[in-house]
Amino acid sequence: MPAFLLPIFGIILGLIIGSFLATLILRWPEGRSVIAGRSSCDACGRQLRAWELIPVVSFVIQAGKCRQCGTMIATDHMAIEIAAALIGGLALFAAPGFDGLAGAIFGWLLLTLAALDVKHHWLPDGLTMILAGSGLMAGLLFDFPTLQDRLIGGIAGFAALAMIAALYKSIRKRDGLGGGDPKMLGAIGCWLGWQALPLVLLGASLIGILVALSWRLRGKSVTVDSMLPLGSLMAIAAFPLWLYQTAGAGLAY
Ligand SMILES: [Zn+2]
Repeated sequence: MPAFLLPIFGIILGLIIGSFLATLILRWPEGRSVIAGRSSCDACGRQLRAWELIPVVSFVIQAGKCRQCGTMIATDHMAIEIAAALIGGLALFAAPGFDGLAGAIFGWLLLTLAALDVKHHWLPDGLTMILAGSGLMAGLLFDFPTLQDRLIGGIAGFAALAMIAALYKSIRKRDGLGGGDPKMLGAIGCWLGWQALPLVLLGASLIGILVALSWRLRGKSVTVDSMLPLGSLMAIAAFPLWLYQTAGAGLAY
């Protein structure tokens, strides 16, 4: 495949994978089966046909609305699909090859974790383990970041946040971080290497502040509890850092 076609391939692959991820994200927390479960309109319960679940098609034919009650069908579903398509396109644009494909997988895993954390304050251990494991595996396949930097990143990321969480708890007598957050930063470290960890935390803080500001501007009250969970903020910060790192490494060759 010619290199210029790869980002387009990434977008199409992203749409397909995003459709599966959206189903997983929207159903897993409810304990419903991803494969076997049949989809229905969340508002009126009408069973949806297979083609109605393909956002692009359903959008063209019925403006994304349920035929029975007119409710927009799973806009979350569509948002996740579009995000997954963007991730696939950007990753293969930044690195047209297998390293780009690896980066897309990193992005899709981050997207899944971020969405579950935003919606359910839940970072499933199994998924953070896959994120960490695939990061170390990428370290075996690609030269940069080195496997050693990734391993240190995994340990340092976990240890740093676990220590902060313990410190916070001993001072404030309550949990300040989610239990999955240290594992999440460790898993991100397995992809980006330890050198990127301060930037992940800085990026997460900046995104958190921006989100809080935009909520204030729209008149929503912002409390500690209403903040986006840290895991999702770290995930949102990590993918652009991968893009930056990869584009930078490409320039250095
Ligand atoms: Zn309906």
